[in-house]
Amino acid sequence: MPMHSGNRQGISAGDRCRSVDQVVEAYERLLARFGPQHWWPAETRFEVIVGALLMQQTAWRNVATAIGNLKRARLLSPAAIARASIPELRRHVRIAGLYRSKPRRLKRVCARLMEFGGDLDEFLGRPMSVVRKDLLAQEGVGPETADSILLYASETPTFLVDAYTVRIARRLGWIDTDRYESVKAWFEGRLSRDLRLYREFHALLVRHAVRVCRPRPKCAECPLNEMCAYYRTRRP
Ligand code: SF4
Repeated sequence: MPMHSGNRQGISAGDRCRSVDQVVEAYERLLARFGPQHWWPAETRFEVIVGALLMQQTAWRNVATAIGNLKRARLLSPAAIARASIPELRRHVRIAGLYRSKPRRLKRVCARLMEFGGDLDEFLGRPMSVVRKDLLAQEGVGPETADSILLYASETPTFLVDAYTVRIARRLGWIDTDRYESVKAWFEGRLSRDLRLYREFHALLVRHAVRVCRPRPKCAECPLNEMCAYYRTRRP
């Protein structure tokens, strides 16, 4: 399969149809292998937001511990976090790393939510492009964090890209770019705009990258190996 850039220019209709089929096929194979992932593992939409803000450069278990600490301290609400001092927040979320910046970012995002009365329906209920721009304007919120929030805390079908997505898609020969918006557009151009599909696909790609398509991939046991450019070139 030819390499594609996220930019659709220069891709023939035939190539694009084949890649649409392959993306859907890959999704179905991953779902058959790993089953539904039930993401995002959170009890409330606000927990999703806090989790997305704490996720950078750490493992999920540390984020889950930090959220548990906030919950026990009765700080798990936009109002409580906006009111709390940075040292207090730091004590509870320190385990999630970046202890200088994460508490400050958390507090600033919550202060922004409080401009909407802490009402997530109000904040997230605006047009998707407005909410995304608003999130991206917050300190430390990049496109991956913004799309995590949109996809899992609101009901916005926006394709979420992370380093795992890029690794797998590059190896499969689907993309030849790391640019967030290009990779996102590549997937969105090949999948129907479906919330459940986007949520599940992202979770499955994470699972696949952690279990199989690791830095040293376990290609022999990979459900995608028949369609993988990397596997074809390295197979004896
Ligand atoms: S065949 Fe190997 S490189 Fe390709 S997707 Fe599977 S694990 Fe990754």
